[in-house]
Amino acid sequence: LRWDLTVPWGYAMGAARHPDRAAIIDELGELTFAQVDERTTRLANGLAGLGVRPGSKVAVLCRNHRGVIETLTACVKLGAHTVLLNTGLSATQLGVVLREQDVAVVVADTEFGPQLAQAPAEVRTVTAWVDDEARGTTLRGLIEDSPATPLPRRPPRGRLIVLTSGTTGAPKGARRPEPTGLSPAAALLSRIPLREGEIALVPSPLFHTWGLAAFQLGLVLGATLVLQRKFEPAETLAAAQRHRCTSLFVVPVMLQRILELPEAERARYDLSALRVIASSGSALPAPAATRCLREFGPVLYNLYGTTEVSWVSIAGPADLGVSPSTAGYPPRGTRLAILDEHGSPVPVGETGRIFVANEFLFEGYTNGTGKEVRGGLMSTGDLGYHDDSGLLFVAGRDDEMIVSGGENVYPREVEDLLAAVPEVREVAVVGVADEEFGQRLAAYVVPTAPGALDAEAVREHVRAHLARFSVPRDVVFLDALPRNATGKVLKRQLGR
Ligand code: ATP
Repeated sequence: LRWDLTVPWGYAMGAARHPDRAAIIDELGELTFAQVDERTTRLANGLAGLGVRPGSKVAVLCRNHRGVIETLTACVKLGAHTVLLNTGLSATQLGVVLREQDVAVVVADTEFGPQLAQAPAEVRTVTAWVDDEARGTTLRGLIEDSPATPLPRRPPRGRLIVLTSGTTGAPKGARRPEPTGLSPAAALLSRIPLREGEIALVPSPLFHTWGLAAFQLGLVLGATLVLQRKFEPAETLAAAQRHRCTSLFVVPVMLQRILELPEAERARYDLSALRVIASSGSALPAPAATRCLREFGPVLYNLYGTTEVSWVSIAGPADLGVSPSTAGYPPRGTRLAILDEHGSPVPVGETGRIFVANEFLFEGYTNGTGKEVRGGLMSTGDLGYHDDSGLLFVAGRDDEMIVSGGENVYPREVEDLLAAVPEVREVAVVGVADEEFGQRLAAYVVPTAPGALDAEAVREHVRAHLARFSVPRDVVFLDALPRNATGKVLKRQLGR
């Protein structure tokens, strides 16, 4: 695939080759490739009428629906930049991001109106999804009332600015080199058996790299994207049956919620068309991988990547069948190295820092900072190791490693062990300051039922399998783990 394949190209090509094929299905119904192509030209003209110029920034604060894709596509047609906003950001965070990014227009669902309370006064708001009586400028109005006048054929490149999850602090804007290009997604196709005309179900948020990748992959394949505004496990299975979806793009916690549905309920849905379940965004717990393979067959793919370095590795069903916690092998064109603190490769089986090189490394954060680079390889910020068959295992973020009494403990190892206990629904392990040991382990456990197990049973399970220093001294039972809008556990809110 060529570098210059962009989002509008995808729709223009789709409109020429299969104009009547559904491009998007959402709660409002179906849009064909020809319709999306035309509607986004209208929207580009409409946005130009609001003063959006090549180089202006348009932000999107929406759930998954046609409006996200139409805005993004219209902006590239115009040569404007799109900033994808995480719907979980607070009013204060949004105010900061909109000001820092110098956003001209924000396209937002009505439900997020209150979150825009601290937006700078000069930012114009366009309403995207209308839950009640629409006021002011709406996306629909801009599309329906603007002309389909052709746009300049070669506008300046519109960039796509994706925000990191903000797991470790304020969300950072990451400038991707392939503005709205489709090549990183295409790099995955050698490892995942997705095909032309795929019917892809996407409940993963489109504002995050993973949902976006699903969208881009779909576009390369002329796929029908079935978008879910809100994830609800039974509704996801119902949609997969209704539209005969061939692939499903989830974050791990969505898969866990699907697997928690009573077996009789899952069995009600005909999912025989489903060939690929792809999970990414955070670590896929090993027990979930094993259950998924058992219940849905050899369809599961675990993709490991970061906003900054794009894809690092992919595990397919055969890899996960042997090693359910693996992140697999790098895709074609990606070089991976696990380095020690001096920058030398670590031996097989030893944990070090994961570095990668590929054509898609980001160009730095919009605030001017970047990630560490060594010999052309960029740090992922994660720790991991290889086994002797070359499979990669991600041990977690390097800043989450716990040093207790001088011993390194990787929370992921303890989490995976505890997640396999039948009475444990989910678990997170963090380090808390300790006068004697520097740090001690705290396990936050969500039991399957209140009182299903006690603290000593948790400790005993770890003691039976791991070294003494890996046993959590603190065990706290919770009803749910704090998560962000992409389903990542907010470890900073634990262990305070
Ligand atoms: P911030 O940089 O703002 O703290 P973030 O790092 O959480 O946010 P993302 O780019 O969304 O932002 O997340 C990438 C991180 O998610 C990776 O560095 C890794 O820790 C984790 N991750 C993603 N996919 C996987 C996977 N398949 N297996 C293990 N970890 C994963």
